Amino acid sequence: MEEHLKCPICFEIPAQEIYQCASGHTVCGTCSANLELCPQCREPYGTKKIRNRALEQILDTQTFDCIHKDEGCKEKLKRQEILKHADICPLNKKAVSFCQKIGFKNCNFSLDPSNLPMAVKHFEENHGAASEKGNQVVIWHTDFNSAMKSTTNRKWNPVLLNTGKAGSNKSLFMILGRVDIRRDFASWRCIQICGSGDKCSDIFEAEFGFGNASEIQIPCRWTIPVVKSVEDNLSAFITFCPIEIPLWLISGICLSVEDVPISVLIQNAKKSKERTLKKLPEVWTFSSQIETLQALTSFSGGEASHNYICSECHVCPLLGKRFKCLQCVDFDLCETCMEQMGTHSHIFAVIRTANQSELMCESFIRIR
Ligand SMILES: [Zn+2]
Ligand SMILES: [Zn+2]
Ligand SMILES: [Zn+2]
Ligand SMILES: [Zn+2]
Ligand SMILES: [Zn+2]
Ligand SMILES: [Zn+2]
Repeated sequence: MEEHLKCPICFEIPAQEIYQCASGHTVCGTCSANLELCPQCREPYGTKKIRNRALEQILDTQTFDCIHKDEGCKEKLKRQEILKHADICPLNKKAVSFCQKIGFKNCNFSLDPSNLPMAVKHFEENHGAASEKGNQVVIWHTDFNSAMKSTTNRKWNPVLLNTGKAGSNKSLFMILGRVDIRRDFASWRCIQICGSGDKCSDIFEAEFGFGNASEIQIPCRWTIPVVKSVEDNLSAFITFCPIEIPLWLISGICLSVEDVPISVLIQNAKKSKERTLKKLPEVWTFSSQIETLQALTSFSGGEASHNYICSECHVCPLLGKRFKCLQCVDFDLCETCMEQMGTHSHIFAVIRTANQSELMCESFIRIR
Protein backbone atom coordinates (compact mmCIF):
# COMPACT_ATOMS: atom_id res chain seq x y z
CA MET A 1 0.00 0.00 0.00
CA GLU A 2 2.66 2.50 1.02
CA GLU A 3 4.79 2.19 -2.12
CA HIS A 4 2.35 3.79 -4.56
CA LEU A 5 1.68 6.70 -2.18
CA LYS A 6 5.31 7.75 -2.36
CA CYS A 7 6.43 10.64 -4.54
CA PRO A 8 7.91 9.23 -7.80
CA ILE A 9 10.85 11.66 -7.60
CA CYS A 10 12.09 11.54 -4.00
CA PHE A 11 10.44 8.22 -3.03
CA GLU A 12 9.21 9.72 0.25
CA ILE A 13 5.70 9.86 1.63
CA PRO A 14 4.77 13.50 0.86
CA ALA A 15 5.00 15.48 4.10
CA GLN A 16 3.07 18.52 2.90
CA GLU A 17 1.12 19.46 -0.23
CA ILE A 18 0.60 17.05 -3.11
CA TYR A 19 0.26 18.23 -6.71
CA GLN A 20 -0.73 16.49 -9.90
CA CYS A 21 -0.64 16.88 -13.68
CA ALA A 22 -3.76 17.09 -15.88
CA SER A 23 -3.66 13.29 -16.21
CA GLY A 24 -3.61 12.79 -12.45
CA HIS A 25 0.04 11.78 -11.83
CA THR A 26 0.97 13.03 -8.38
CA VAL A 27 4.20 14.50 -7.04
CA CYS A 28 5.13 15.93 -3.62
CA GLY A 29 5.16 19.70 -3.07
CA THR A 30 8.91 19.89 -2.48
CA CYS A 31 9.73 18.15 -5.75
CA SER A 32 7.01 19.92 -7.72
CA ALA A 33 8.61 23.29 -6.89
CA ASN A 34 11.49 22.36 -9.21
CA LEU A 35 9.46 20.76 -12.00
CA GLU A 36 7.81 22.16 -15.10
CA LEU A 37 6.87 18.82 -16.66
CA CYS A 38 5.12 15.86 -15.10
CA PRO A 39 7.90 13.33 -14.41
CA GLN A 40 5.66 10.49 -15.57
CA CYS A 41 3.90 11.68 -18.75
CA ARG A 42 6.13 14.71 -19.58
CA GLU A 43 3.03 16.91 -19.83
CA PRO A 44 3.76 20.57 -18.86
CA TYR A 45 2.09 21.60 -15.59
CA GLY A 46 1.09 24.96 -17.07
CA THR A 47 0.68 28.13 -15.04
CA LYS A 48 -1.50 26.64 -12.33
CA LYS A 49 -0.50 23.48 -10.53
CA ILE A 50 -3.39 21.28 -9.48
CA ARG A 51 -3.37 20.43 -5.80
CA ASN A 52 -4.67 17.03 -4.75
CA ARG A 53 -6.30 17.72 -1.39
CA ALA A 54 -8.23 14.47 -1.40
CA LEU A 55 -5.02 12.43 -1.40
CA GLU A 56 -3.52 14.74 1.26
CA GLN A 57 -6.53 14.07 3.48
CA ILE A 58 -6.34 10.33 2.90
CA LEU A 59 -2.66 10.37 3.89
CA ASP A 60 -3.54 12.42 6.98
CA THR A 61 -5.77 9.63 8.25
CA GLN A 62 -2.96 7.08 8.05
CA THR A 63 0.22 6.31 9.91
CA PHE A 64 3.43 5.14 8.29
CA ASP A 65 6.45 3.05 9.15
CA CYS A 66 9.70 4.65 10.22
CA ILE A 67 12.27 4.59 7.39
CA HIS A 68 14.38 2.44 9.76
CA LYS A 69 11.70 -0.23 10.00
CA ASP A 70 14.08 -2.81 8.52
CA GLU A 71 16.59 -2.03 11.27
CA GLY A 72 13.87 -2.79 13.81
CA CYS A 73 12.05 0.48 14.51
CA LYS A 74 8.38 -0.19 15.27
CA GLU A 75 7.33 3.46 15.38
CA LYS A 76 4.09 4.43 13.55
CA LEU A 77 4.18 8.00 12.34
CA LYS A 78 1.99 10.67 10.78
CA ARG A 79 3.33 11.71 7.38
CA GLN A 80 4.57 15.08 8.69
CA GLU A 81 6.61 13.33 11.40
CA ILE A 82 8.50 10.80 9.29
CA LEU A 83 11.57 12.93 8.55
CA LYS A 84 11.73 14.55 11.98
CA HIS A 85 11.59 11.15 13.63
CA ALA A 86 14.26 9.73 11.30
CA ASP A 87 16.65 12.32 12.72
CA ILE A 88 16.19 11.10 16.29
CA CYS A 89 15.28 7.48 15.59
CA PRO A 90 17.41 5.34 17.93
CA LEU A 91 17.89 2.84 15.11
CA ASN A 92 19.32 5.39 12.71
CA LYS A 93 23.02 4.65 13.04
CA LYS A 94 24.09 7.23 10.50
CA ALA A 95 22.13 10.10 12.02
CA VAL A 96 24.10 13.11 13.12
CA SER A 97 23.26 13.50 16.78
CA PHE A 98 22.09 16.78 18.25
CA CYS A 99 25.32 17.11 20.20
CA GLN A 100 27.36 16.56 17.03
CA LYS A 101 25.32 19.23 15.26
CA ILE A 102 26.18 21.78 17.93
CA GLY A 103 29.87 20.93 17.90
CA PHE A 104 30.38 18.15 20.47
CA LYS A 105 31.86 15.89 17.83
CA ASN A 106 32.30 12.75 19.92
CA CYS A 107 28.89 12.73 21.57
CA ASN A 108 26.10 10.59 20.14
CA PHE A 109 23.37 12.09 22.30
CA SER A 110 20.19 12.69 20.31
CA LEU A 111 17.74 15.22 21.62
CA ASP A 112 14.40 13.67 22.53
CA PRO A 113 11.91 16.56 22.40
CA SER A 114 9.56 14.75 24.77
CA ASN A 115 12.20 14.52 27.48
CA LEU A 116 13.90 17.86 27.96
CA PRO A 117 14.84 17.20 31.62
CA MET A 118 16.95 14.30 30.38
CA ALA A 119 18.60 16.63 27.86
CA VAL A 120 19.39 19.16 30.61
CA LYS A 121 20.92 16.39 32.71
CA HIS A 122 22.99 15.25 29.74
CA PHE A 123 24.37 18.74 29.04
CA GLU A 124 25.16 19.27 32.73
CA GLU A 125 26.85 15.93 33.26
CA ASN A 126 28.67 15.52 29.96
CA HIS A 127 29.38 19.03 28.74
CA GLY A 128 29.77 20.97 31.98
CA ALA A 129 26.66 23.04 31.33
CA ALA A 130 25.54 25.51 33.97
CA SER A 131 21.78 25.98 34.39
CA GLU A 132 20.14 29.30 35.17
CA LYS A 133 16.58 30.55 35.46
CA GLY A 134 15.11 33.61 33.80
CA ASN A 135 15.79 35.30 30.49
CA GLN A 136 18.97 37.05 31.53
CA VAL A 137 22.34 35.70 32.51
CA VAL A 138 25.83 36.99 33.13
CA ILE A 139 28.50 34.54 32.07
CA TRP A 140 31.43 34.88 34.44
CA HIS A 141 33.36 31.76 33.58
CA THR A 142 34.45 33.25 30.28
CA ASP A 143 38.20 33.24 30.56
CA PHE A 144 39.73 34.89 27.53
CA ASN A 145 43.34 34.36 28.55
CA SER A 146 43.10 30.61 28.76
CA ALA A 147 40.91 30.51 25.65
CA MET A 148 43.72 32.20 23.75
CA LYS A 149 46.38 29.86 25.14
CA SER A 150 44.49 26.59 25.32
CA THR A 151 45.43 23.99 22.74
CA THR A 152 42.54 21.63 23.22
CA ASN A 153 39.37 23.32 24.37
CA ARG A 154 38.10 26.02 22.09
CA LYS A 155 34.61 25.98 23.47
CA TRP A 156 33.35 27.43 26.67
CA ASN A 157 30.95 25.23 28.56
CA PRO A 158 27.36 25.79 27.48
CA VAL A 159 25.00 27.80 29.65
CA LEU A 160 21.36 26.73 29.85
CA LEU A 161 18.68 29.31 30.47
CA ASN A 162 15.23 28.16 31.48
CA THR A 163 12.85 31.06 30.95
CA GLY A 164 9.74 29.02 31.87
CA LYS A 165 8.10 28.72 35.26
CA ALA A 166 9.80 26.63 37.93
CA GLY A 167 9.64 22.93 37.15
CA SER A 168 8.73 23.43 33.51
CA ASN A 169 11.11 23.24 30.60
CA LYS A 170 8.82 25.08 28.23
CA SER A 171 11.42 27.57 27.09
CA LEU A 172 14.91 26.27 27.26
CA PHE A 173 17.82 28.11 25.67
CA MET A 174 21.47 27.20 25.30
CA ILE A 175 24.23 29.76 24.95
CA LEU A 176 27.37 28.49 23.28
CA GLY A 177 30.62 30.44 23.24
CA ARG A 178 33.37 29.48 20.81
CA VAL A 179 36.84 30.52 19.84
CA ASP A 180 37.84 29.97 16.21
CA ILE A 181 40.54 27.51 15.18
CA ARG A 182 43.30 30.13 15.08
CA ARG A 183 42.20 31.46 18.48
CA ASP A 184 41.65 34.93 17.08
CA PHE A 185 37.92 35.43 17.41
CA ALA A 186 35.26 34.73 20.00
CA SER A 187 31.59 34.35 19.16
CA TRP A 188 28.43 33.40 20.97
CA ARG A 189 25.29 31.84 19.64
CA CYS A 190 22.00 30.89 21.23
CA ILE A 191 19.83 27.84 20.50
CA GLN A 192 16.24 27.38 21.59
CA ILE A 193 15.87 23.75 22.64
CA CYS A 194 12.39 22.93 21.36
CA GLY A 195 10.38 20.37 23.30
CA SER A 196 7.51 18.38 21.85
CA GLY A 197 4.78 20.15 23.83
CA ASP A 198 6.30 23.41 22.71
CA LYS A 199 4.94 25.20 19.66
CA CYS A 200 8.36 26.71 19.24
CA SER A 201 6.95 29.25 16.80
CA ASP A 202 7.97 32.48 18.53
CA ILE A 203 11.07 34.18 17.19
CA PHE A 204 13.65 35.08 19.79
CA GLU A 205 16.73 37.26 19.79
CA ALA A 206 19.73 37.16 22.08
CA GLU A 207 21.39 40.40 23.04
CA PHE A 208 25.01 40.22 24.13
CA GLY A 209 27.18 42.77 25.84
CA PHE A 210 30.31 43.19 27.92
CA GLY A 211 29.56 43.92 31.54
CA ASN A 212 26.68 42.92 33.75
CA ALA A 213 23.17 44.26 33.42
CA SER A 214 23.68 47.28 35.67
CA GLU A 215 27.21 48.15 34.69
CA ILE A 216 28.22 48.24 31.06
CA GLN A 217 31.95 47.65 30.81
CA ILE A 218 32.30 48.43 27.12
CA PRO A 219 29.48 50.43 25.54
CA CYS A 220 28.53 48.04 22.79
CA ARG A 221 25.77 45.49 22.58
CA TRP A 222 24.84 43.27 19.70
CA THR A 223 21.80 41.19 18.96
CA ILE A 224 21.68 37.96 16.99
CA PRO A 225 18.81 35.64 16.04
CA VAL A 226 18.17 32.62 18.27
CA VAL A 227 18.38 29.41 16.24
CA LYS A 228 15.88 26.65 16.97
CA SER A 229 17.05 23.12 17.73
CA VAL A 230 14.61 21.82 15.09
CA GLU A 231 16.15 23.96 12.33
CA ASP A 232 17.23 21.85 9.33
CA ASN A 233 20.49 23.76 8.96
CA LEU A 234 21.31 23.70 12.66
CA SER A 235 24.96 22.72 12.25
CA ALA A 236 25.55 25.41 9.62
CA PHE A 237 24.01 28.06 11.87
CA ILE A 238 26.16 26.91 14.78
CA THR A 239 29.38 26.91 12.77
CA PHE A 240 28.56 30.30 11.40
CA CYS A 241 27.98 33.25 13.70
CA PRO A 242 27.18 36.67 12.24
CA ILE A 243 29.07 38.52 14.99
CA GLU A 244 32.62 37.52 15.87
CA ILE A 245 34.76 39.63 18.19
CA PRO A 246 38.58 39.67 17.98
CA LEU A 247 39.99 38.25 21.22
CA TRP A 248 42.97 40.60 21.18
CA LEU A 249 40.59 43.59 21.37
CA ILE A 250 38.85 42.23 24.41
CA SER A 251 42.14 41.58 26.18
CA GLY A 252 43.53 44.92 24.98
CA ILE A 253 40.63 46.96 26.30
CA CYS A 254 40.00 45.20 29.57
CA LEU A 255 42.90 45.17 32.00
CA SER A 256 41.98 41.86 33.52
CA VAL A 257 40.41 39.66 30.90
CA GLU A 258 39.28 37.08 33.43
CA ASP A 259 36.94 39.67 34.84
CA VAL A 260 35.01 40.51 31.69
CA PRO A 261 31.46 39.33 32.20
CA ILE A 262 29.36 38.64 29.13
CA SER A 263 25.74 39.52 29.68
CA VAL A 264 23.04 37.80 27.67
CA LEU A 265 19.40 38.78 27.41
CA ILE A 266 16.92 36.59 25.54
CA GLN A 267 13.75 38.24 24.37
CA ASN A 268 10.90 37.83 21.98
CA ALA A 269 12.02 39.45 18.73
CA LYS A 270 8.72 41.30 18.38
CA LYS A 271 9.04 43.09 21.70
CA SER A 272 12.78 43.55 21.86
CA LYS A 273 13.05 46.86 20.02
CA GLU A 274 11.05 48.98 22.48
CA ARG A 275 12.54 47.33 25.54
CA THR A 276 16.10 47.71 24.34
CA LEU A 277 15.55 51.34 23.48
CA LYS A 278 14.45 52.17 26.99
CA LYS A 279 17.17 50.21 28.69
CA LEU A 280 20.29 51.04 26.73
CA PRO A 281 21.52 53.98 24.75
CA GLU A 282 23.40 52.11 22.02
CA VAL A 283 22.71 48.77 20.46
CA TRP A 284 23.64 47.15 17.19
CA THR A 285 20.95 44.78 16.19
CA PHE A 286 20.94 42.03 13.64
CA SER A 287 17.87 40.89 11.74
CA SER A 288 16.14 38.04 13.53
CA GLN A 289 14.95 36.60 10.24
CA ILE A 290 16.21 33.06 9.80
CA GLU A 291 16.26 33.70 6.02
CA THR A 292 19.01 36.23 6.58
CA LEU A 293 21.01 33.64 8.46
CA GLN A 294 20.39 31.17 5.68
CA ALA A 295 21.75 33.60 3.10
CA LEU A 296 24.74 34.32 5.31
CA THR A 297 25.69 30.68 5.66
CA SER A 298 25.75 30.14 1.90
CA PHE A 299 29.23 31.39 1.13
CA SER A 300 30.74 31.61 -2.30
CA GLY A 301 34.48 30.94 -2.25
CA GLY A 302 37.38 33.27 -2.99
CA GLU A 303 38.71 36.35 -1.21
CA ALA A 304 35.97 38.72 -0.16
CA SER A 305 35.84 42.21 -1.61
CA HIS A 306 33.76 44.57 0.51
CA ASN A 307 32.48 47.76 -1.03
CA TYR A 308 33.50 49.89 1.97
CA ILE A 309 36.19 52.50 2.59
CA CYS A 310 38.78 51.97 5.31
CA SER A 311 38.43 54.85 7.77
CA GLU A 312 42.22 54.88 8.40
CA CYS A 313 43.98 54.45 5.04
CA HIS A 314 40.93 55.14 2.83
CA VAL A 315 41.53 52.07 0.68
CA CYS A 316 38.45 50.82 -1.20
CA PRO A 317 37.24 48.12 -1.62
CA LEU A 318 38.32 46.27 1.51
CA LEU A 319 39.85 42.93 0.57
CA GLY A 320 39.70 39.90 2.85
CA LYS A 321 38.26 40.65 6.26
CA ARG A 322 36.38 43.82 6.98
CA PHE A 323 36.36 45.08 10.57
CA LYS A 324 33.30 47.04 11.61
CA CYS A 325 33.36 49.13 14.77
CA LEU A 326 30.53 48.21 17.12
CA GLN A 327 30.82 51.48 19.01
CA CYS A 328 30.85 54.01 16.15
CA VAL A 329 28.49 54.63 13.26
CA ASP A 330 30.22 53.98 9.92
CA PHE A 331 33.71 53.13 11.05
CA ASP A 332 35.42 50.33 9.12
CA LEU A 333 39.01 49.12 9.00
CA CYS A 334 40.90 47.04 6.45
CA GLU A 335 42.92 44.03 7.61
CA THR A 336 46.24 45.90 7.54
CA CYS A 337 45.00 48.86 9.58
CA MET A 338 43.33 46.49 12.01
CA GLU A 339 46.64 44.70 12.56
CA GLN A 340 48.42 47.97 13.24
CA MET A 341 45.57 48.91 15.55
CA GLY A 342 46.12 52.63 15.88
CA THR A 343 44.36 54.78 18.43
CA HIS A 344 40.90 53.43 17.79
CA SER A 345 40.49 51.20 20.82
CA HIS A 346 36.92 50.07 20.30
CA ILE A 347 35.30 46.67 19.91
CA PHE A 348 35.02 45.52 16.31
CA ALA A 349 33.12 42.71 14.64
CA VAL A 350 34.83 40.83 11.85
CA ILE A 351 32.90 40.50 8.60
CA ARG A 352 34.29 37.76 6.40
CA THR A 353 32.33 37.75 3.17
CA ALA A 354 30.96 40.35 0.77
CA ASN A 355 27.64 38.55 0.98
CA GLN A 356 27.71 39.16 4.72
CA SER A 357 28.62 42.84 4.17
CA GLU A 358 25.72 43.28 1.81
CA LEU A 359 23.20 41.68 4.15
CA MET A 360 24.66 43.52 7.11
CA CYS A 361 23.89 46.91 5.62
CA GLU A 362 20.24 45.92 5.27
CA SER A 363 19.75 44.08 8.50
CA PHE A 364 22.41 45.35 10.85
CA ILE A 365 21.04 48.57 12.19
CA ARG A 366 21.87 50.78 15.09
CA ILE A 367 19.26 51.83 17.58
CA ARG A 368 20.01 55.06 19.36
ZN1 LIG B 1 9.07 14.29 -3.86
ZN1 LIG C 1 1.43 13.11 -15.77
ZN1 LIG D 1 12.39 5.00 13.82
ZN1 LIG E 1 26.29 15.41 24.32
ZN1 LIG F 1 43.17 50.59 6.05
ZN1 LIG G 1 34.75 53.04 17.01
